[in-house]
Amino acid sequence: MKQNYKIAQLGHPILRQQAEHVEDVCSPGIVDLIEYMLKTLAETNGVGLAAPQIFESTCIVIIASRPSKRYPLAPKMEAVVMINPSFEVLLKTKHKDWEGCLSIPGIRALVPRYQKIKISYLDQQGENQQLIAEDFIARIFQHEYDHLKGLVYLDRVENNKDIISEEEFQKLMDAN
Ligand SMILES: [Zn+2]
Repeated sequence: MKQNYKIAQLGHPILRQQAEHVEDVCSPGIVDLIEYMLKTLAETNGVGLAAPQIFESTCIVIIASRPSKRYPLAPKMEAVVMINPSFEVLLKTKHKDWEGCLSIPGIRALVPRYQKIKISYLDQQGENQQLIAEDFIARIFQHEYDHLKGLVYLDRVENNKDIISEEEFQKLMDAN
């Protein structure tokens, strides 16, 4: 990660705040914020980013799944910017899988998430959009959405034994 894109780290109070709804998606402040978030995500190996992670307590998330060293099994998709997102659970079953977070470097954990959800959000033109998301994409969204509520993925972990180091996680991935 390049130093010019600074990510809020666990312990910073902004990660524990409820983010504010966007009133005007076309305001210069929001347009600049989204551009900055897209650049930040491109510079890191993340698959998603929430505005509070770059010190802006605003309801915007980006999901941008792509395979990388951090997420070797991630499917490839174009980055989707979601403003004022919400979601509905379509499949009540939760599935545990590995997550990490740019705000919590060095560790990974197994986190239970809904497998299938319907996401509603505003796009950058202010149009209502919906997206049915499953598995890894649904997981990324729920992770980023939590950031807007002042939650981090560690809050969702069921057992401390489900938390491991990044180094051990890489060994697990290499073994697969
Ligand atoms: Zn995160």
